[in-house]
Amino acid sequence: MNKARFYEQTDNGLLCLLCPNHCLLQPGKTGRCLSRGATEDGSMQLHSYSRIVAANVDPIEKKPLYHVFPGRPIYSIGSYGCNFRCRFCQNADISQHKHVGSELTPKQLVAEAKSIKDNIGVAFTYNEPGIWFEYICDSAPLLRQAGLLTVMVTNGYLNPEPWAELCRHVDAMNIDLKSFNADFYKNICGGQLETVKNNIVAAVKAGVHVEVTHLVVTALNDDIGEFSTLVDWLANLSDRIPLHISRYFPRHLESAPPTKPALIAKFVEVAGKKLKFVYPGNISASQDTLCPACKSVLIKRNAYNVLVNYRGTTCQCGEKLPFIDEYNPRLKIERNT
Ligand code: SF4
Repeated sequence: MNKARFYEQTDNGLLCLLCPNHCLLQPGKTGRCLSRGATEDGSMQLHSYSRIVAANVDPIEKKPLYHVFPGRPIYSIGSYGCNFRCRFCQNADISQHKHVGSELTPKQLVAEAKSIKDNIGVAFTYNEPGIWFEYICDSAPLLRQAGLLTVMVTNGYLNPEPWAELCRHVDAMNIDLKSFNADFYKNICGGQLETVKNNIVAAVKAGVHVEVTHLVVTALNDDIGEFSTLVDWLANLSDRIPLHISRYFPRHLESAPPTKPALIAKFVEVAGKKLKFVYPGNISASQDTLCPACKSVLIKRNAYNVLVNYRGTTCQCGEKLPFIDEYNPRLKIERNT
C-alpha cells in the first residue's frame, strides 16, 4: 500500500487535489485517472506505485527530446491510467485500463537504469506520469545521486503545488500542448488549456529543460490561425523552446484520416518564423538541428540514427548551443519573459 499525497477528507468523501479534475472518492473507489483510490480507513493510495506496465530502452529522440544528450539511450517506463480522456489517445490500452504490471521499487529502478550501457537516465512516459507523482518524487533523488537524469513525457495537467514539486525533481520534460483552444481541451481531452499553459511557464521558470509537442489531428486542431497563436505564445515565453509538430494517425475513438504531410510542412514553416528549433514528427522529413545563427548542421538525424556534428557549448560561429549533454549538463532555457 502506498499512501498518496495531495488530498483532503470532506463530508462527502476524499477530495483529490493532485490534478484539476478534483475527484471526490468514496471508500473502495478510484479516481478518473484509475491509479488513485480511497481506502476504507479514509486514506488515499497510489495503486500504481512501482507497478511497471511498459519498459523499454529507447533513443531519447523517441520521447521526443532532441536537445538532451542527442543520440543516447534512456530507460523508459510507464504504468497505467491518465487524467485526460483524449479521443485520439495513442496509448489507450494502458492509459484507459487498469493493469497489474510488475514491481520495480525506486531502488530497483535505479539499479536497472545503471545496468544499461550508455543510459542517460529514466523517462517516465507511455501513460501520464503526473499521476505517478509519489513514485517519481521517490525515484528522482536516487537517480540524481546516481548521476542519472529524470525525464517526463507529460500532458502537464497537475495542480500548481505538486507541479512545482515535480519541477524540482525533473531535469527535462516533453509537454504536450494539444491545442490553443480551451474548448478543444474541455471537449476532446477533458482538461483545461490554462492549466497546461501555466505549467509550461512554471517548468521553464523552474529551470526544467522543456520541449513541447503539438499533435495535429485532422479536422480537430488543424486550423493554421489557431496554431499561429500557439506559436506566438510559445515564442513569447522563449524562442529557444524546441517544438515538435507531429503527424496524427487514427487511434482509440478517433477515426479521422491521418494528418496530410503537406499540412505538417505548412505548420513547420509557420512555427519556424518565430521559433529557432522546430521539428516535424511521425513523418519522413528533415529533423536536423541547425545553428540558429550560421545555419550549420549541428545534428543530422535519419529516423533514430543521430550524427552529432558539434563539440563544446558554442557553435563554431560563437552561438550558444541549446543542448543538455556531456559539455553542458544543466542547460537552462533563456526566457523572453
Ligand atoms: S489525480 Fe486522479 S484521482 Fe486525483 S483528481 Fe486527478 S484524475 Fe482524480
